Amino acid sequence: MTDGSTSILLEAGIRFKEIQRKLNFQTRDIAGCLVTHEHLDHSKAVNEVTRAGIDCYMSAGTKDSIKADSHRIKTVKAKQEFTLGSWTILPFDVQHDVSEPFGFVLKNKAGDRLLFATDTYYIRYRFNDLTHVMVEANYSTRILDKNIENGTVPQIMKKRLMRSHFSLENVKDFFRANDLSKLQETWLLHLSDNNSDEAAFKRDIQSVTGKPVYIA
Ligand SMILES: [Zn+2]
Ligand SMILES: [Zn+2]
Repeated sequence: MTDGSTSILLEAGIRFKEIQRKLNFQTRDIAGCLVTHEHLDHSKAVNEVTRAGIDCYMSAGTKDSIKADSHRIKTVKAKQEFTLGSWTILPFDVQHDVSEPFGFVLKNKAGDRLLFATDTYYIRYRFNDLTHVMVEANYSTRILDKNIENGTVPQIMKKRLMRSHFSLENVKDFFRANDLSKLQETWLLHLSDNNSDEAAFKRDIQSVTGKPVYIA
């Protein structure tokens, strides 16, 4: 993610080799990496990223859980802003079944204000002037219920999902509760293979925000 001046890596959930390839090996320009929590799909490359000389920012709880030990791991606190190049970053607590998960709001002087939140069943804060939103939309309750009914997904999954991941219905409520006057675009993240529907999710969120929606 970049504003043309400072590039920031969001998560370290894929192998560093893959990150390099995706960035055409321009990884020297990365000012830092934000890690939301310890689950491997978000953190498995932390060691590789720090070894490449990139600082990784995360909560103390996340750092403890991934048991990585490098001077390049920087712990940050919820509601305490820090800066990385042209970005001012505000970590905030989210709701997920791990030690101390964070979401982040990134803002710069150009007026960009990006919310990045994944793996959370709810966001308890309200934000003003968001221009870009990258948010999890993991499952739809309607699809999940259908999958449980026909036996594709075990009933027990529902309880866990409701306490760990964002449903489409709750994401819609999140958008309705926030100031969208400056919103330019939305990226939906972390869609479940079984319990989601890309086209329908895109349509639904687009109808709430009135702005383009992309699936990451
Ligand atoms: Zn997770
Ligand atoms: Zn995840």
